[in-house]
Amino acid sequence: MSAEFKVLVTDKVSGGSLEALTSDDRFEVVQIDDSKDPSFAEALKTSHGLIVRSATKVKADMLDGAPQLRVIGRAGVGVDNIDLDAATARGVAVANAPAGNTVSTAELTMALIMSMVRKVAAADASVRKGEWARSSFKGGELRGRTLGLIGAGRIGGEVARRCRAFGMSVVAYDPYLTDDRASELGVERVELDDIFARADIVSPHVPLTDQTKGIIGKESIARLKKGSFVVNVSRGGVVDEAALAEALKSGHLAGAALDVYENEPLEADSPLRGAPNLILTPHLGASTAEAQELVASEIAATVRSALADGDLSAALNAPAVAGDVLRKLAPMLELGCDLGNLATVMAPGGIQSIDVRYAGASDEALKPLTAYVLMGVLKPVLGGDQVNFVSAGHLAGQRGIKVARTQLSQHSDYTEYVELDIKAERGPLRLAGALLGDAHPRIVLIDDYHVDIVPTGSLVILKNKDVPGVIGRVGTILGDHDINIAGYHQARLSKGGDALAAVSVDGVVDETVRAALLELPEVSAAVVVRLG
Ligand code: NAD
Repeated sequence: MSAEFKVLVTDKVSGGSLEALTSDDRFEVVQIDDSKDPSFAEALKTSHGLIVRSATKVKADMLDGAPQLRVIGRAGVGVDNIDLDAATARGVAVANAPAGNTVSTAELTMALIMSMVRKVAAADASVRKGEWARSSFKGGELRGRTLGLIGAGRIGGEVARRCRAFGMSVVAYDPYLTDDRASELGVERVELDDIFARADIVSPHVPLTDQTKGIIGKESIARLKKGSFVVNVSRGGVVDEAALAEALKSGHLAGAALDVYENEPLEADSPLRGAPNLILTPHLGASTAEAQELVASEIAATVRSALADGDLSAALNAPAVAGDVLRKLAPMLELGCDLGNLATVMAPGGIQSIDVRYAGASDEALKPLTAYVLMGVLKPVLGGDQVNFVSAGHLAGQRGIKVARTQLSQHSDYTEYVELDIKAERGPLRLAGALLGDAHPRIVLIDDYHVDIVPTGSLVILKNKDVPGVIGRVGTILGDHDINIAGYHQARLSKGGDALAAVSVDGVVDETVRAALLELPEVSAAVVVRLG
């Protein structure tokens, strides 16, 4: 039996750590360590998954040679080597392995803190020069000192535990830190200002964002006690390098250690190279044998779940939803896709904006539901090849469609309900659907008409005058073209006024039939859509 999915693994990812894939019959794993080897491009043509470290640059041209690719896994954290936009536009999910190097990076932080306060690197250099300058290297103890943690996630948390073991107290600033986690870690939650007022050693463990860029900069360093220390193993740019070099030169800081830099590799003329009491390491946080094994096994499991279960919760470029949640939401998501499809067919002119409004039991439904609605909107326009769960939001943005999401409080009639408020070039459109029971989808509203339509097969939607005989005349035209009616649903706003008919039919309703229906004097609009 041939495997269902082929996963290409490169950049010398440790083969022994790929058990999640190699032990599963559904997967064929092909390892080609050098992605410049011609056999790599050949294998990529038929691969569904690709696992890389940092050496392989996954750019648009490489993706163009990978028509079947659905997921790229980065065995590590940073995805700078992967063109996320190009992957998203092609519907390829990109996932990383953020947890595998947590302990490795926390231990490097400890190594740097201890080397910094005991001047290990400088003492070593001095002895090698033939000196024996013991009095120059008097250090301090960690016991009794205060660590100021900025960011108490995976790595920050592990650093906190280790510093506590050294008898330090830990104060932490993290806007997302809960009381429970703070007490589990044995840290005191404080505001950012308190970190700078109280810490002897400051250690950020945050992502690089607009909020964290330069969070340790000229002003904050000035607020630190004289003789304190800074260590950064998070991301370059979190610490302002020029301000740090200046504070070391002036002696305001007793020492610092950096593993990450604004530009990597560090420039030859960086002011950091000449700054005193500074330890510099070349981005070694994840550089342990154990971390490399752990990130490889983490990414293998992620790629397996993505391909086999559609679980994209670890993807950086798709709504984060776990496979079991997706399975539970499936009837609602498919209904969303059908409504999106109907929206494209019925919208008067191009769609300018869509508000996806959901009322129901799940607080995780709205993002994936929106992605499915957009898939439904775009597939009739762009075809099925490029539109999928990952690319839909991106493609909608590219086409200038504004998308909003609204979580509604419970609907009075339905437990699972979704409504699309659409603004199109030539007017608005409102569509709604609901589930009957757990899994039976219905379209329940088209503009102001309350309907009850099972979204499956071919559907002809007519706007007509509510006059006697119109149903018979529509039936005759369809019958004349050998089209069997499976269900006829008529809704009207008032007796003798405007009405909407939704006719489910077996077979294909082509343009000739549609034109014939439009020739009926009572019929003002006719659209045909295939659902389900
Ligand atoms: P994480 O997501 O588990 O933790 C980050 C924490 O930062 C979260 O708790 C978050 O709430 C907090 N945070 C976000 N914005 C904040 C802000 N403005 N102020 C304060 N806290 C804020 O991530 P992690 O795995 O602990 O990684 C932390 C950092 O270490 C990341 O930047 C990661 O890229 C980096 N890292 C570096 C290496 C290395 O080789 N040096 C290795 C692994 C990770």
